[in-house]
Amino acid sequence: MPSKLKLYNTLTRKKEVFIPIKKSHVSMYSCGPTVYNYAHIGNLRTYIFNDLLKKSLQFHGYKVDHVMNITDVDDKTIIASQKNGKTLKEFTREYEKIFFQDTDSLNIKKPDHILRATESINDMVKIIKILMNKGYAYKTSDGIYFSINKFKGYGKLAQLEKRKKDKTKERVKNDEYDKENMQDFALWKFYTPEDGNNFWNTEIGKGRPGWHIECSAMSMKHLGNRLDIHTGAVDLIFPHHTNEIAQSEAATGKKFVNYWLHAGFLNVKEGKMSKSLGNVLYLKNIITQGFSPLDYRYMCLTTHYRSALMFSLENLNAAKNSYERLKNICQELKDDKTTNKSYLDKFEKVIEDDLDMPKALQVLWQLLRDKRAKGTYQTIKKMDSVFSLDLLEKPKIHIPDEVKKLVSEREQARKSKNWKLADELRDKINKQGYVISDTDQGPVVKKG
Ligand SMILES: [Zn+2]
Repeated sequence: MPSKLKLYNTLTRKKEVFIPIKKSHVSMYSCGPTVYNYAHIGNLRTYIFNDLLKKSLQFHGYKVDHVMNITDVDDKTIIASQKNGKTLKEFTREYEKIFFQDTDSLNIKKPDHILRATESINDMVKIIKILMNKGYAYKTSDGIYFSINKFKGYGKLAQLEKRKKDKTKERVKNDEYDKENMQDFALWKFYTPEDGNNFWNTEIGKGRPGWHIECSAMSMKHLGNRLDIHTGAVDLIFPHHTNEIAQSEAATGKKFVNYWLHAGFLNVKEGKMSKSLGNVLYLKNIITQGFSPLDYRYMCLTTHYRSALMFSLENLNAAKNSYERLKNICQELKDDKTTNKSYLDKFEKVIEDDLDMPKALQVLWQLLRDKRAKGTYQTIKKMDSVFSLDLLEKPKIHIPDEVKKLVSEREQARKSKNWKLADELRDKINKQGYVISDTDQGPVVKKG
């Protein structure tokens, strides 16, 4: 069956019909977090996008092999670990753990393979050696650099061909980058005393990798020389993804990635949310303000992944209200064990149009408002395999320990047929603001 799924490919600036290299299997790589701080909610938007993409592919029947890296060595992680008086490993593992707690709470499924940069150094050295042998890389006193002039078509992804190369800064040594100028970039950085204990003794010298080579090595290690899909935030197009293409294609002589997909920014009133502008919000910040992670996931679904998402607490509050209404309606649905083909087709059609989640949500709402529709429950179950909003899951309410104790005392009283005590205990539970109903599976406690 020919695929009808269309995805916007940054490489061609067009929506293209998606055709994987291997029939019904998709290889997908996503740039992961640099674990030196919390991921802010703008970063998390990109990981929600990755998750929606993967689940949409699975909805279309594809098997997806998803790889993501953890950048646990670069300038930022080294400097931050030293400031905190911790080893690089101790320091980065802490933030790695927090990252996955955040993504779990957003119902983001973990990638199939998660690779740490520090555990893939040999794979990077292998590629750098090939690049040196082929004449794409050269050695200086401080490191090994990629020569962008040697690689024909450098900057194609970013459409930078026509921009002038900066003559004054011909090399960039650090992991920060210039958004405008094309420069030779470090593949390997020779050891300096500032690196402390963070170095590897390798065939190409004592030192550590540059940032870009990490992703080329880790993606190809698991997925082979050619990938179907590579994702990231839009600000990674240049230079990070541009450099990944140059390194990988120069080394293998093959086209590295067929479809490049990029998620848009999260904007606030003042513009882009970024650490450098000091206007970032973390997931924990919005949780303290009374929002759930899934309120935020719902909000992300209301804007197309390539558009900038306007974030404000008012917008988040509106999303929270819609999401709660949606969930309440879904909770009342009865399962008639059928699906509604017409609505599922509509849903599939909008997903096929470059993952149009705002329209997919509209289809969901239409279905819920259609009083004559059959198969609503099972249809929503299928839709929620993509949305991942827990629409049919019973809410997990927090029951205080003292109420739990009263409930079990009441069960004991009922078992010994002490109805008077059982009733008294029920009153006590009600007074605490909870109601109890007795079912075949035992007592169920709800907020009153
Ligand atoms: Zn990357």
